[in-house]
Amino acid sequence: MSITRQSRLKSPWLFHLNTGSCNGCDIEIVAALTPMYDLEQLGCVLVGSPRHADVLLVTGPMTRQMVRRAITIYEQIPQPKAVVAIGACALSTGPFFGSDMVEGPVDRLLPVDAYVPGCPPKPEAIIDGVLKALKKKYG
Ligand code: SF4
Repeated sequence: MSITRQSRLKSPWLFHLNTGSCNGCDIEIVAALTPMYDLEQLGCVLVGSPRHADVLLVTGPMTRQMVRRAITIYEQIPQPKAVVAIGACALSTGPFFGSDMVEGPVDRLLPVDAYVPGCPPKPEAIIDGVLKALKKKYG
């Protein structure tokens, strides 16, 4: 395994993108980063720029106004990169299914590596989803 792949596996930096979620999933991502669940013990850090990220965490059903922004953000993340879709909205548009304002689910627009079901998913499930995406991409 190259040093780059190994470092990304051991200390992946995360960028969180809300594509129209109700904030339920977003709060669970924050909870996963708190000392109680301690996503940071895996070397994960939430970063403020996609250019510094290895993993994109996506919540929400992908509203029409977020499509171009989401694609731009995805393209700004350097290769190799992984995408984790978090919550029923990201996986299937959830309660927004059939809405004219929704272009999701997320995997219609971005290549998703791991899916985390739930409305909202528990922090433990989010951590598991990040690990699955890392294993698939860099493992
Ligand atoms: S999956 Fe549930 S909690 Fe998450 S954004 Fe959708 S409605 Fe909100």
